[in-house]
Formats: sequence, C-alpha cells, structure tokens
Amino acid sequence: MESTVPPEAVGSVSPSEHPRHGPGASPATATSGRVLVLNATYEPINVCTVRRAVVLLLKAKAELIERGRMELHSESSTLARPVVIRLITYVRVPRDAHRRKITRRAVFARDSWTCQYCGSRSNLTVDHVIPRSKGGSSSWENIVASCAPCNRRKGDRLPRQAGMHPRRAPRTPRAEIFIHVASPTIPAAWLQYLPTAA
Ligand SMILES: [Zn+2]
Repeated sequence: MESTVPPEAVGSVSPSEHPRHGPGASPATATSGRVLVLNATYEPINVCTVRRAVVLLLKAKAELIERGRMELHSESSTLARPVVIRLITYVRVPRDAHRRKITRRAVFARDSWTCQYCGSRSNLTVDHVIPRSKGGSSSWENIVASCAPCNRRKGDRLPRQAGMHPRRAPRTPRAEIFIHVASPTIPAAWLQYLPTAA
C-alpha cells in the first residue's frame, strides 16, 4: 500500500536534536551519527538517528542494508549498528518537496557551505542575487550563500552594479539535498546510494 508523506514523517532529525543517553543506553560511539534511509526502491529519502533506525528494524518496517563495525547491546540482544536501512513499504515522496522548502541550511548545503562571491566558509548568510527591493524573488534561482562581509558590500545593488556575480548560477538542488542538510559529512558507506554525491 502506498502512502503520501513528507520525508520528515519517516523520522528525520532536526539539527538541534541530540541522541539521549539514559541509563543502559548504548555507548555514544555506537549510537551517535546518522543512518541513511532508502525507500523500498533503494532511492535515498531520509536521514535518521540510530535509535530511530533500530526501532524501524525491530518493528520489521525496514531491513538492514549496510552495517557498521560497532554493535549495539541491550539486555537481551546484540544488533549491528545500522548505517543504511531500506524501508519495506514504498513511501511516496512528493517529487517537488525539496523545491518548496527553501531554508538557510538547504541553501548552504547546495552551495557547499561556501560564500558564492569570495569562497569564504565562515559567517554565512543568504543573499538575494537580485535584491528584493529591485524585484528579485525568494526562489532557488535567486538566493545564494554569501558571507556577511560580501552581503554588506553588495548591499542593495544588482550584481553588475556591485561587480559581484555568484561563482555558480544558483539552481534548484537535486532531491537528495536534504541528506546533505541533515548530515554535512557523508559517510563513505552511503556514497553508492547517493547518485549525486560529490
Ligand atoms: Zn564572501
């Protein structure tokens, strides 16, 4: 049976969420980090916590595709630390879900956390290439990562007025962008499932 749910509904992680380590919790080394979630079709659709992945595996809602070297221990069983899991039931993800959701982190991820004017990786902000005051839209094609000094220098001017042009023409990112948003560093074991990973 198919169901239409946003990627969040299968257990994505907000950047502020931290794994809990209560009494009896597994060592942080085994439970920290993220797990790549594949759809039944092997298409990457999400990133979740190890805890969430274990729940999906124990409930037989997912199968283990790639395991880590670490093991997770509980009172009754030992489980390989999941690295990549695959949902048993196909989840329909709207094709354009990522297009509608423009967030700062998604813009930074698309632009490799790099100022598109000078290449700096610190003090990042988002800049409207064509300023809003000059009719520029808040679309993927008009928003780039910019360090604060470049953003101030450009101010309310058009790129040609300021002599500042983005290094890469901004475009709508591929659907896998949310994986880079959720996990700035991509584990090697995920790469074969991410067609666009660089
Ligand atoms: Zn800059």
